[in-house]
Amino acid sequence: MPSLEELAAKASACTRCRLAEGRTNVVFGTGDPAAELMLVGEGPGAEEDRRGLPFVGRSGQLLDRLLLEELGWTRERCYIANVTKCRPPNNRDPLPDEVEACSPYLEEQLAIVDPKVVVTLGNFAARLLLRTGEGVTRLRGRAYPFRRGVLVPTFHPAAALRGGGVIVAQMRADLVRAKAALAAPAPPQASPAGKAGARPDAGSGPSFDPIDARGTSRPEPGRLRG
Ligand code: SF4
Repeated sequence: MPSLEELAAKASACTRCRLAEGRTNVVFGTGDPAAELMLVGEGPGAEEDRRGLPFVGRSGQLLDRLLLEELGWTRERCYIANVTKCRPPNNRDPLPDEVEACSPYLEEQLAIVDPKVVVTLGNFAARLLLRTGEGVTRLRGRAYPFRRGVLVPTFHPAAALRGGGVIVAQMRADLVRAKAALAAPAPPQASPAGKAGARPDAGSGPSFDPIDARGTSRPEPGRLRG
């Protein structure tokens, strides 16, 4: 298995998809390489593209604040990455072939860091890692068996910046759910380490939830930016 540094070096020269054409920097990921908590967003925004780091704009500031207030953690204690490592032009959504081309990097990051808890931020990461077409509004409110622990879907902080207090409150509840999962024993149904995915039925079947199983019927917020 390569190290994160080796993988980052490989990604820095990657031209597997068209997003290579418009990028300033490849935004590979950052944080503790042995983190128990990994956060996965969508793709770099303008500030992230400029600086080569994930979640360093307004969304990142909100994420940092919520992590500190709900878990007492700074971002350095987590590992943070995105589904796509290069910025989609004009902040558009990443296209399916771009997600597919880039997903091996995320799978290798998951295998190397091997976090106990993964928090997905927005639709794209949750759909990719849970292998489902459901949106985050329906997926959130539960924790799903994933690798050696669980995956907790929540909104992207950009959606919280647009959507206001209700979305922020739901993100807080999801982070509390992640905190409980970090403290809980790993669920017996967890997939073997090294397999970067949830069980195939994880998006629709019974889920492991260390806290509760509240869902929501709130309408999907607008397009999510990562
Ligand atoms: S988005 Fe991913 S697959 Fe596409 S060029 Fe960038 S690193 Fe390579």
